[in-house]
Amino acid sequence: MSNDSDGDPTVPPGPADVEDLPTVSCERCGREWDLAYELEEVAVGNQAFEQFALDHQRHTGHFPDGISTWRADCRQCPEAIQRLDERAARRWAETHARHTGHAVEVDHADQESTTIERSE
Ligand SMILES: [Zn+2]
Ligand SMILES: [Zn+2]
Repeated sequence: MSNDSDGDPTVPPGPADVEDLPTVSCERCGREWDLAYELEEVAVGNQAFEQFALDHQRHTGHFPDGISTWRADCRQCPEAIQRLDERAARRWAETHARHTGHAVEVDHADQESTTIERSE
């Protein structure tokens, strides 16, 4: 009768301690934030930064440092948006052009702008 209770439970590796929280600073606000809240609430590493930037813009009207956005700016009406994602900005421009027939300019910090018009 072998009582072989080999106690070696394989412990799955838990989430590593996050010592180095990513931080974001904003010159306009003169502040710096860590992304603990976003990481906890959004729980997606890369998107925490984007989420913070979008929230910051929504609540303060500007983006924090180091964020370069894609802007889609209608030439014929006051509609304009800013997105971190190029595809999102272009999709907005294309949809706006499609529904209104307006020409929309899409540009990015380090890129020349392109104009999106409704294609008939
Ligand atoms: Zn700010
Ligand atoms: Zn328009």
